[in-house]
Amino acid sequence: MTNSPYTLRDFFAQSGLPLLEAKMLVEQALGVSRAWMITHDLDVLSEHQWQALQALCNRRTAGEPMAYIMGSREFMGLDFTVSPAVLIPRPDTETLVEAALGFLKDKVTARVLDMGTGSGAIALSIAHFAPQTQVFASDISQEALAIAQVNAEKFKLDVDFRQSSWFDQFCGETFHLIVSNPPYIHQGDEHLSQGDLRFEPRLALTDNADGLSCYRIIIQQAPRHLTQGGAIYLEHGWNQAEAVRALLIQAGFAQVCSIRDLAGIERVSGGVWLAE
Ligand code: GLN
Repeated sequence: MTNSPYTLRDFFAQSGLPLLEAKMLVEQALGVSRAWMITHDLDVLSEHQWQALQALCNRRTAGEPMAYIMGSREFMGLDFTVSPAVLIPRPDTETLVEAALGFLKDKVTARVLDMGTGSGAIALSIAHFAPQTQVFASDISQEALAIAQVNAEKFKLDVDFRQSSWFDQFCGETFHLIVSNPPYIHQGDEHLSQGDLRFEPRLALTDNADGLSCYRIIIQQAPRHLTQGGAIYLEHGWNQAEAVRALLIQAGFAQVCSIRDLAGIERVSGGVWLAE
């Protein structure tokens, strides 16, 4: 095997990346732990290893999100497999999961539906932390559902994943809790062409309209799919809480309120179905 003229220390000095990211790329490219690097930083790397590191470094320098390069992202303490077919799970969304777990806390059993599940981050976190529940999840993307299924198997959790546009494949079924983090970015939002978002599926980010069209569909149809006293929690953008609450109130939901994320932003809105 040909040796390169370089060591890990050379890579850290030259990569131009934050040290933590550079170390993560070494973990991924060489299959070694960060502890190992400390005692092997002056080992000469093979040409193959050096090329593998450069390849990952070039992807990162081109702006590709770390989660896609690493193939995983931690969410609710679980290590989710991700690919460019799914939105990268965000810490903000843990606020939605916490709200769901709070609602489920005193329920002996419950049917839960997560719509637009992507990597399955929300549905599988609920299944993991509220094991008494029966969790269902939809996504329109078959590719996304394949990733969600990989995660279900990795965590040994059982979620009923169905390829479905919103409620389409849940005709006549009711749930105690419905949750969703739908695409909510306005089609004209400049963020879509910046940062990580450039690499994420557009389908998961924007409704290609005013950012509220998915809430209109979900909230209009949700009452048919909720048990008496059932709840809905929806994640939304920093400036959408008022509009989502208005839609919930208009649809006849009670106890409509918003929940702030760790940055103090109203991030999740929900309500309870008491009518009829
Ligand atoms: N939270 C994502 C972002 O703005 C958007 C995800 C979504 O549209 N549901 O970065």
